[in-house]
Amino acid sequence: MSLEAFEQIESTVRGYVRNFPVVFDTAEGSYLYDIDGKAYLDFFAGASVLNYGHNHPELQKALIEYISRNGLTHSLDMASTAKAAFLETFKRRILEPRGLPHKVQFPGPTGTNSVEAALKLARKVKGREKVMSFTNAFHGMTLGALSVTGNAFKRGGAGLPLTHSDSMPYYGYFGDEVDTIEYIDRLLADQGSGVDLPAGVIVETVQAEGGINVADLGWLKRLEALCRRYDMLFIVDDIQMGCGRTGKFFSFEEAGVEPDIICLSKSISGYGLPMALTLIKPEWDVWEPGEHNGTFRGNNLAFVTAARALDLYWSDDRLSDEVERKGRMIHAGLKHLTEKYAASKGAVRGRGMMQGIHFEDADMAGTVSKHAFQHGLIIETSGPEGEVLKLMPPLTTSDEDIKKGLDIVDQAMAEALDVDGKDGMPVRAIFD
Ligand SMILES: *Cc1c(COP(=O)(O)O)cnc(C)c1O
Repeated sequence: MSLEAFEQIESTVRGYVRNFPVVFDTAEGSYLYDIDGKAYLDFFAGASVLNYGHNHPELQKALIEYISRNGLTHSLDMASTAKAAFLETFKRRILEPRGLPHKVQFPGPTGTNSVEAALKLARKVKGREKVMSFTNAFHGMTLGALSVTGNAFKRGGAGLPLTHSDSMPYYGYFGDEVDTIEYIDRLLADQGSGVDLPAGVIVETVQAEGGINVADLGWLKRLEALCRRYDMLFIVDDIQMGCGRTGKFFSFEEAGVEPDIICLSKSISGYGLPMALTLIKPEWDVWEPGEHNGTFRGNNLAFVTAARALDLYWSDDRLSDEVERKGRMIHAGLKHLTEKYAASKGAVRGRGMMQGIHFEDADMAGTVSKHAFQHGLIIETSGPEGEVLKLMPPLTTSDEDIKKGLDIVDQAMAEALDVDGKDGMPVRAIFD
């Protein structure tokens, strides 16, 4: 089997298959296997959909048992045992321990569905049209979500004006000198700024697709305060950074903020099954019954694995602690590599197990990714020019596999720069 079917039948819109041009067949834990049985270490984790790895045996078991007993697969938003179990588990494991009073909306199966619901609801609650978003934000591909997304190439695909949003400078956009909260505050306060008061503000705590831009926690806290001061809803899109990617279940927990609306998707099902949530503070839960819906809101298979994953990983702090420790490991490894290959002019950035190298030469990230793939490591790039090499392994990846992946990045950087990798210590040595 070759890539022929994809090249001849699938639309030119296909993307990742071009960067990782093999046919995959099976997967387990942190590894994917192609049709020839070649193993690939996965430092991409389905864009953080697979935080607990591929085909987690416990989740798989729960799923097979549920299917085997003819458990309901699809149910729109009718009541089902699987959905009730998920809701109760989510309340017990996630909402209650964090003192979050939020109601749970099932907006449809994908992240962009969750964002659309959040934007519609903010407008409905506040009766204003605009939503404030940030430079380099990524919120999805449907028109509403795209209108609050920064990337010009992606926006261009809309084919019509993307309106009712205002893009503001994210944390650090003008460098350390300019406090962007003060900048936004001034625009909102000034009756001559030309900026309409928005219904809400949508933000990512770490802009993953935008190039791993990490917001300062104090900045997030002040953004929340700004929302309170100007009566705007504070919406956190935690679709990629939530479910433990930065350590805690929600990426905003450490900032001590309480968003009005929270978007979750990607790893919430835990198994790679489509599922999304929009979490809403009770006072803003003003939907009329059925005012927002979607045929695939009731993906019971996802509810089964999601509930099991919450029981497995979120009944204590063990996973969070491990993510923080492994995140520091990856950060140290990358730091070593940027020093070893000073010529790469790379800088390390990230939080938790979302870490990357920002290259001054934008093409370098893609070249390193290509070489890494040849050595059996799947690793993607992000940022407006694809200038950031983005490491995002499953959170359950072993220390040994993290070292193995970093070894491959070491080798790939040597090849990409065409320098002798023997100068300087191999990355693995810094952990001994
Ligand atoms: C992936 C992502 C989305 C969109 O999710 P889809 O499932 O692709 O629609 C939205 N926001 C963020 C931050 C994401 O990472």
